[in-house]
Amino acid sequence: MSVVDLDLVSKHVDVPDEAKRILSKSEQEAYANLNLKWEGGLIQADAYIALHCAVRGPAKGGIRMAEHVTLEETRRLAELMTYKCALARIPFGGGKSGIRIAPKSLSPEARRALLGEYVHMFAPYLTSGTYVPAPDMGTGPTDMAMIYGFTHIPECVTGKPPRIGGLPGREEATGYGVAVTTKLAVQDLLGKELKDVTVAVQGFGNVGKWTARFLADWGAKVMGLSDVECAVHAEKPITMQDIVPAISPADLGIRRISRDDLLLLPVDVLIPAATGGVIDRAVASKLHAKLVIEAANDPVTGEGDAVLRERGISAIPDILANSGGVIASYIEWRQAKSGSLTERSETYEVIEHQISQAYADVSAAARDRGISHRLAAQIIAVDEVVQSMRDRSWI
Ligand code: NAD
Repeated sequence: MSVVDLDLVSKHVDVPDEAKRILSKSEQEAYANLNLKWEGGLIQADAYIALHCAVRGPAKGGIRMAEHVTLEETRRLAELMTYKCALARIPFGGGKSGIRIAPKSLSPEARRALLGEYVHMFAPYLTSGTYVPAPDMGTGPTDMAMIYGFTHIPECVTGKPPRIGGLPGREEATGYGVAVTTKLAVQDLLGKELKDVTVAVQGFGNVGKWTARFLADWGAKVMGLSDVECAVHAEKPITMQDIVPAISPADLGIRRISRDDLLLLPVDVLIPAATGGVIDRAVASKLHAKLVIEAANDPVTGEGDAVLRERGISAIPDILANSGGVIASYIEWRQAKSGSLTERSETYEVIEHQISQAYADVSAAARDRGISHRLAAQIIAVDEVVQSMRDRSWI
């Protein structure tokens, strides 16, 4: 099922049938069976690349390495990327990749060899610049450095460590963008400043930890944190100094709660920053937050979204809230192509500028048309993509 309901969107903006037909499926998909002879046995993993729509530029999107990732999930995430890049006004298309294996089952050496096999199998996409990967769940800067090492093309991958052509600020870019979005939405929708609100963050990986860290630093009261193994609820706000050294919320020495209860904490702002589908109808009908900021991709199900709307709880969609990563990726890609250098402050400035602009557009459309922020974001993004199709004479 598509992420965006184009029939609904076309009630608000002109989406010609030709554009609907193009956007209703992936432009390209590729599958590889990765096989690795390893220590007397065989390591095997399904791998996928989905390129949803490259009308605006090279297909951009992370590589998800997870035990249960599927082609269908990869396809949905690629579609999200098309609209995320369009909403952020970044000249990239939408892509995504999946490697179906539990990352923790791999030694560093086996991981490197498996990524080598991935590059070998998908070389036509990677070396031509058709698909430009970045980190997603289960992958990080070292993996991107390895992909660069296998291709020797600096611009073929983003999210690399700064010493080998990565961007200062890329690691924290998504979390920074989520924190900027949270600040804007708290002012706009709750009429408050960050220091006046309580927050819970689900997920303590790249996105969740950096988001919590920036928000705590900017004065928000971070009361709950979780990862896949544990969740905690603090009596006093968790400080940035507490968050920085922690590998997991378990290290904070705070009262444990069940993982599911994290989503139901009595906080003003809930930030799902772990995985998809966690706010379903049941969770949406019980949560206490007044505002949901989608740091993860696709964290609210369709039914969950309907309940949030009925209850008057605003959700700032993923294609806006977590676009800091792809905005930074664009700067890294540009840097790799031009050979220029970028300061961390520039990375932050560009993310803040692009997200503030997109937030203002979405907020105005939501208000003027009396619709949700999700639909407003989709309308703007789809319109950008349709205009790009006209620019290229696709339609
Ligand atoms: P990550 O692998 O670094 O971290 C994921 C975190 O979520 C880990 O702490 C893990 O323990 C936790 N987790 C997993 N399942 C959980 C559960 N059921 N309950 C609580 N915690 C759980 O991944 P990431 O890069 O931080 O990505 C997180 C989300 O953000 C994903 O949806 C990803 O697609 C999205 N995203 C990431 C980026 C990026 O730049 N990394 C950019 C845009 C969107």
